[in-house]
Amino acid sequence: MKRIVFCGFRGTGKTEIGKLVAVELHLPFIDTDTLIEQNTGRSIPDIFHENGEERFRAVEREVMATLPEKDVVVSTGGGAVIDPTTMEHLRKESVLVLLVSDIDTIEQRLVRKPRPPLTNLPLREEIAELMDLRRQHYHAAADFCVDTSETTPAIAAETVIRILKQGVVKVNHRTSGMEFFRTGRIPPQALHTLQELLIGPDRDPLTRIMGVAGYPCAHSKSPALFNALFARFRLNYHYTWFEDPEISEIMMVARSLDAKGLSVTIPFKQDVMKYLDEIDEHATRQIGAVNTVVFACGSAIGYNTDWLGVRKPLVTLKGATAVLLGAGGVAAGAAYALTDLDMKVTILNRTPKNAEVLAGQFGCGWGTLEDIGKIKPDLVVNATPLGMHPDDHSPLSDDQLNKEMTVFDLVYTPPETPLIKQARRIGCRTITGTEMFIEQAREQFYLFFGIDVPGEQVREMIP
Ligand code: NAP
Repeated sequence: MKRIVFCGFRGTGKTEIGKLVAVELHLPFIDTDTLIEQNTGRSIPDIFHENGEERFRAVEREVMATLPEKDVVVSTGGGAVIDPTTMEHLRKESVLVLLVSDIDTIEQRLVRKPRPPLTNLPLREEIAELMDLRRQHYHAAADFCVDTSETTPAIAAETVIRILKQGVVKVNHRTSGMEFFRTGRIPPQALHTLQELLIGPDRDPLTRIMGVAGYPCAHSKSPALFNALFARFRLNYHYTWFEDPEISEIMMVARSLDAKGLSVTIPFKQDVMKYLDEIDEHATRQIGAVNTVVFACGSAIGYNTDWLGVRKPLVTLKGATAVLLGAGGVAAGAAYALTDLDMKVTILNRTPKNAEVLAGQFGCGWGTLEDIGKIKPDLVVNATPLGMHPDDHSPLSDDQLNKEMTVFDLVYTPPETPLIKQARRIGCRTITGTEMFIEQAREQFYLFFGIDVPGEQVREMIP
């Protein structure tokens, strides 16, 4: 039997419910906090207060690496989910059950059964602050979510066992989900796999679906990349293409199939926001576009990882003078990333009005493509689609570039665009769109699963 791992905030019932599930399934039970105390001969508050949280997490990581990989029920410490390496250990071949409770219930339980404080804050404030800090990590950890606020441990344990045996997706939703996928342009082999997973006689009720949402998106490389990552980290997930002209339809199907998450692409990055329960600060207030949706505990939460994909390869150019070509959705994320790196940014675009609007949003200069000569930038970032099509030319002429410049083309198909070829010929430092693709995919994987994949591993897996 797969390893069953309970995660969640203190006071949600991980140990009590975990023990009941273990008894019912005739499996041994391990509480990782107890194991840490046995292994070190010290109490957890002692390790925390004498050596700090970092040391405690290191000890916790070592313990997680030694857990049996199957036929066991494990209850983890409340903060274990924040450590990416711990998550990698815990997720291997496992089912992660996130237990949640409302703040009043947790407070009452911790008053009845006090535990050593984790901060200097009063109890309720401590709970609120830590739950908020860890929320994204709990969502990433959840294969399944069970609310223990208004229930007994025995009933919660029954719910967990029912989920383990049957999953949570209703038969009619699996059937209509299959009809939805048949209308998209999914390759026949991938459609066959989906059929096996959703309605096949040997289907595993715990396998979860996720995918890329777009129209069109059948060309997307994300399914091949994510499925390779699932195999690498031994995750019981399958990633596919959610292709439909209506994002409302995609969101409905994704929710009904209990999808873990979606990567959102053209043309839905703005429209999807209407269908979300929450949106993170970077995505809404600044960029106005979502490219990642995480479904957890009945909510759909939107994030933007495109801007991180632009930011990461440019961290050494903090404070540079930059020109951003284009003023569309990806340019908004790029403008956010460049200004976040304290760069002096000018947005140049085919339609100057669109550049002016975006520039106003981020406090940048603006103009037309011809204005590049007046600026003499250290960095040029191309956020137009020029370069994607075989007969495309570079957006700039040779005399608009010089060898002191760094040129970052966000277009990643083909990997070597006319702009990149031209910049290399002139002697500029170049960064290809593949770097952005790798970094934004790493961030997505982290939001979905709490695991930090090294960039080189992602690079090797890109088809
Ligand atoms: P978009 O919203 O359609 O915006 C395109 C921008 O490019 C607009 O400002 C548009 O100018 C300009 N533009 C379009 N065609 C042009 C042309 N022929 N000449 C000059 N300017 C032109 O597109 P987007 O969503 O921002 O995506 C832009 C590109 O980013 C995509 O094509 C894709 O290659 C790349 N991308 C890369 C990654 C990655 O991971 N590397 C991820 C996502 C996207 P107007 O305002 O005048 O229309």
